Amino acid sequence: MDKNLYIVRCGEVALKGMNRPYFERILLERLKKALSCYEETEAQWIDGLMIVRVDASIPEDEVIERCVRVFGVASVSAAVEAPKDINEIGRLAGEYMLKAIEEDDIKTFKVKGKRADKSFAIESPEIARQVGGMVLKACKVLNVDVHRPDCILTVDVRREAAYIFRDKVKGFGGLPLGTNGKGLILMSGGIDSPVAAFMMAKRGMSIEAVHFHSYPYTSPRAQKKVEELVGVLAGYMGTVKMHVINLLPIQEEIVKNCPEDETTLHVRRFMMRIAEEIAKKYGCMMLITGEDLGQVASQTAEALVVTDSVVSMPVMRPLIAMDKVDIIDKAREIGTYDISIQPYEDCCTVFLPKHPVTKPKIARIEKSESKLDVDALVEAAVASEEIVEIRP
Ligand code: ATP
Ligand code: MG
Repeated sequence: MDKNLYIVRCGEVALKGMNRPYFERILLERLKKALSCYEETEAQWIDGLMIVRVDASIPEDEVIERCVRVFGVASVSAAVEAPKDINEIGRLAGEYMLKAIEEDDIKTFKVKGKRADKSFAIESPEIARQVGGMVLKACKVLNVDVHRPDCILTVDVRREAAYIFRDKVKGFGGLPLGTNGKGLILMSGGIDSPVAAFMMAKRGMSIEAVHFHSYPYTSPRAQKKVEELVGVLAGYMGTVKMHVINLLPIQEEIVKNCPEDETTLHVRRFMMRIAEEIAKKYGCMMLITGEDLGQVASQTAEALVVTDSVVSMPVMRPLIAMDKVDIIDKAREIGTYDISIQPYEDCCTVFLPKHPVTKPKIARIEKSESKLDVDALVEAAVASEEIVEIRP
């Protein structure tokens, strides 16, 4: 089978000292998994790079897109391998550029020489000069422009071989999935929580999700939207388990027994308690939310203290200090934004108070809550859980 070669570079994994082999092994496993849909794919670490070979009939863009979605990958290049002989490198670089000219409108180029293997006799500037000369001979239409070239051709001479490439497609960086425990994201259908889940997963945390609905006040379509969002996330992290819980019985108790302006806070306290129970049940060590300081009444500093006080598990809020515009940019980048803005109701909006408290006092909230049988309500909610497995 004819195969194309790709260079996949890691980011922070390279900074890991003693643990580096562990991170490298997991990263390679994740990469192989991401490419497992192609037959006879090969991937291995060579000289600090992951060298991947994939069936040449698969479009390069498609392979690169799969690689950059693997957390821990810093960048990817489609490349050509050459033996460590300057004439062979020059010949293959010429062929490579002939193909590049066919694909893109390239009139000028420059060669960047790199020599990671110092035992290679020719120094980097000289590699660039000689290969540049040979490319010029092979491609008559090209000119050298060292200041603003249409194309930079890199020749990277390493211990095992030399690699020729012209583009680097950036990955998300981060750490390989599964190297940092497991967390439970409280997943709404909004813009924020999918971004929060993505950011924690990017740091290596495996993710499960919990979603609350208020059926029949919220529609099955609203839940489908959340499943679609999780489906996008699954494209980065593989199949995600989502725990689905009907919060309506609890919301009705709250509305019946507690002051109207406190409704959202009580709902949020129950969400946290139920999430913590689910997390414990499935081995998640942290809760994750898409909360952002001051964004809405339930996310003021005082409100966050009130919601946090009902759980003992750490609550990660990776968006806490971000501005909404930046969260939106991130949502666009990862591909969740267009789904998030579809107008379906969320359980939080079902009994939304007209004038929610923004500076709640914990004592007052606890007093109103004492009218409810908290433990029984949480237990019943957890027992009613349904599980959906969401695949990429
Ligand atoms: P998002 O855009 O993520 O919906 P938001 O700005 O709308 O956030 P809230 O509705 O107050 O804010 O929710 C804050 C956080 O609470 C969400 O980011 C999410 O983690 C969690 N959350 C809200 N609604 C739900 C839900 N129906 N199921 C699970 N978690 C939820
Ligand atoms: Mg929301």
